[in-house]
Amino acid sequence: MPTRIITDGSTERVVPAPRVVLPAAATLFAERAARFAQLSQGHPFGAYLQLMARVAQAQHEACAARPALPTSASLLAASREYGMPPLAALSHERAALWREDLAAIVQSLRPRASAELAAALQTLAGADASELEALADRVLAGNATDADAPLVPLVGAALQVYFTRQAAALPVDDVSRCDVATVCPVCGTRPVASVVRLGGAQANLRYLVCALCSTEWNMVRAKCSVCEAEKSVGYLSIEQEGRSLADVPIRAETCDECHSYLKIFYQEKDPLLEPMADDLASLALDLLVDERGYARSGPNLLLHPGSS
Ligand SMILES: [Zn+2]
Ligand SMILES: [Zn+2]
Repeated sequence: MPTRIITDGSTERVVPAPRVVLPAAATLFAERAARFAQLSQGHPFGAYLQLMARVAQAQHEACAARPALPTSASLLAASREYGMPPLAALSHERAALWREDLAAIVQSLRPRASAELAAALQTLAGADASELEALADRVLAGNATDADAPLVPLVGAALQVYFTRQAAALPVDDVSRCDVATVCPVCGTRPVASVVRLGGAQANLRYLVCALCSTEWNMVRAKCSVCEAEKSVGYLSIEQEGRSLADVPIRAETCDECHSYLKIFYQEKDPLLEPMADDLASLALDLLVDERGYARSGPNLLLHPGSS
């Protein structure tokens, strides 16, 4: 684990960079909503990003309205001793609470919903518990059907709320030993993107950001986040007006070993970057990288499958 020298003017101390950073559930979704709203200004998909701002605001309200449930001591012990993600998304027994989060999100999106969104909200409002659980299983496993597509971002939003709230309540020392560097140490999900952080003990370090629970974990830079190869990593970006390529805050980190890519965000070049929002606002980069033959490695649960 790298360490940074932090100088605060009077004393010099060595602060170890955290290996794992749990999500700040109280503020994360509100900040995401603000970022979506900001990104929507003058954006070719501005209306879509404004809708996503409303989704994130609904997530914020749902997150605050319900408590985290206790995580069993045996799961935390398995995490400490064997590095197993305590909330492994594919096997975790979800509490019914996530469906309350979903109902709240559905309710808050009803006003001003387009015909297509209203139909999706209606479908979810009318689905029974077993249908919703099966749908959640498909979303988490990444095998949602075409018919599920309009429902996926809404179910994904509710699952994010539930898992983020659960993750935020964990003792960080209990989840810092996962030795599989390519998946979230808390829930085992792939990262949505990686961020080179700005400031504090995390400055200049690269963190992968979980697509489900927003936990962040450290991985050295210039290393493929899928196959961990170091020599085959390259970067692609889209030129932005008024910025040189080296100064662009978003790049795709590509790997010629496994032919995958994941976006990497440089917070130093844009301090307000928010991984989930900036990912959806930069789908043009996905198209470019896709054309070059790289396959995206991590999901964005707020996106329809196949719509990128
Ligand atoms: Zn996670
Ligand atoms: Zn690779």
